[in-house]
Amino acid sequence: MKTCTRCKESKPKTSFRLNKKSNDGLSYQCNECYSKNNYFKKKSNNPPSVSSLASRIRNRITTALKSNELQKRSGTELIVGIPFNVLRMWLHKDYDFVGDEHLDHIIPISWAINIDEVEALNHYSNLRYDDPIRNVSRNNRFVLIESIECVLENHPDINLIHRILDRNKDKVVPY
Ligand SMILES: [Zn+2]
Repeated sequence: MKTCTRCKESKPKTSFRLNKKSNDGLSYQCNECYSKNNYFKKKSNNPPSVSSLASRIRNRITTALKSNELQKRSGTELIVGIPFNVLRMWLHKDYDFVGDEHLDHIIPISWAINIDEVEALNHYSNLRYDDPIRNVSRNNRFVLIESIECVLENHPDINLIHRILDRNKDKVVPY
């Protein structure tokens, strides 16, 4: 038996689809929740739940840290700098809802070269919901000067941010 993370019901393992990424090789959600979820995902105008946002950031941080062969050293919420429910409001200041899948770093996480920078770039001031079209075309290569202002205004470690930006000067563009 396995407990579904969504409906919290205990169900036989056959009620869970395969998921290579999870510890036991099975999806976190039961099949019923999974199909419900994926059906509504396309239609719903509801913002993503705090926990899905949190796990998304956690995944992003973990992935970023993995690629630098570093260990995650502090809680995601600590890195983000504000509780996830506040983060949600922060992200929605620009968009009513564009979708969880478009959570983006203003200064790309790929610009980080060490654990301090990975953490610094996961601060809430560097997070936003991005316009999917702009996101794709920009392809994480360029950062608009205009969008950095918000990071510089709110980030606790401006010096570190400036170091990251200085290293990538050629990719910081006015428009
Ligand atoms: Zn379920």
